[in-house]
Amino acid sequence: NNSFDLNSVIRPHILTLAPYSSARDEYTGHSGVFLDANENPYGSVTVEDYNRYPDPYQAEIKAKLSPIKNIDTKRIFLGNGSDEPIDLLIRATCTPEKDHVIILPPTYGMYEVSASIHNVQIDKVSLTADYQIDVNAVLRAITPDTKIIWVCTPNNPTGNVMQDEAIVTLLNNFNGLVVVDEAYVDFTDSVSWISRLDEFPNLVVLQTFSKAWGLAGIRAGMCFASADLIKILNKIKSPYNISLPAQRALLEGLGAVEKKDEMVKEILKERASLRTMLENLSLVNKVFPSDANFLLVHFDDARAVMAYLIDEAIIVRDRSKVHLCEGCLRITVGTEQENEVLIESLKKYQQNSV
Ligand code: PMP
Repeated sequence: NNSFDLNSVIRPHILTLAPYSSARDEYTGHSGVFLDANENPYGSVTVEDYNRYPDPYQAEIKAKLSPIKNIDTKRIFLGNGSDEPIDLLIRATCTPEKDHVIILPPTYGMYEVSASIHNVQIDKVSLTADYQIDVNAVLRAITPDTKIIWVCTPNNPTGNVMQDEAIVTLLNNFNGLVVVDEAYVDFTDSVSWISRLDEFPNLVVLQTFSKAWGLAGIRAGMCFASADLIKILNKIKSPYNISLPAQRALLEGLGAVEKKDEMVKEILKERASLRTMLENLSLVNKVFPSDANFLLVHFDDARAVMAYLIDEAIIVRDRSKVHLCEGCLRITVGTEQENEVLIESLKKYQQNSV
């Protein structure tokens, strides 16, 4: 895409904005007498010390992440969950009440919520019946004020991967950002779009520490893009967006890649056996293919099943009113024991309803 110009996508006042800077930016990681940030010099009220502000740009973490993701540190942004870059990308590009984003429902809810918070116009182009991108309809929906197209792959809640050619067509024919959200990338064999960032200046890739890495509680997400776009995100983020305990957990976690890989292997094994067990139940009509850590499951009466499961203190996600997911529940793959509890409950429901 030769006609993409980042400066025409970023809001003009953001391009010229002078960001907040801390006096210590260049001293991060060094020792010294720090009397610049009005911290408590004695320590914390807690056992662990948290009295110092964390590194605003998380240099140590990015240095560890860079070889794992095979990308330069300058092309990495870390956020308070990937929900933070979702929000920042909208704030960087979209003027409220004027600009548009395109979303491809059924998909992850925050693209729409974030755009709505900023009073940005949302154009919805439904996926096809087989949950793929309706490329021609998306191209037709692009307006001169469209700044972002949100693509989720593997898609939440449908679980499938979007075809490469469709995403390439969007990247080549759209002069705004195509954001590819890979929150579930660790559960699929398809390669990450990170490997194609050099090819497409308008490509942005999101990943998260909340799924495969098992770190949902620390709130940390990744955004990979051109170094120039990463600079913009760094300009508009809040100064210390990744907390010190989160940074410590990330450093520990990035040193334990094998543990993540082991857990992913276990989850994939459980995904296969949960699928088989669900397919053997007569009340289940269909279990959709999944490249993620959840299964989309079609029931005759999803709402009744959902209500029954809640009574049994088993919480799944009701997607039965969502367009193209009518009658479906989205079920996260649990541990072997949790999946067993779910299946036993569903069997009980089945027996009671004959
Ligand atoms: N993208 C997708 C597709 C998701 O499903 C989720 C979480 N459910 C997120 C992003 C947000 O993840 P987090 O903010 O925890 O990184």
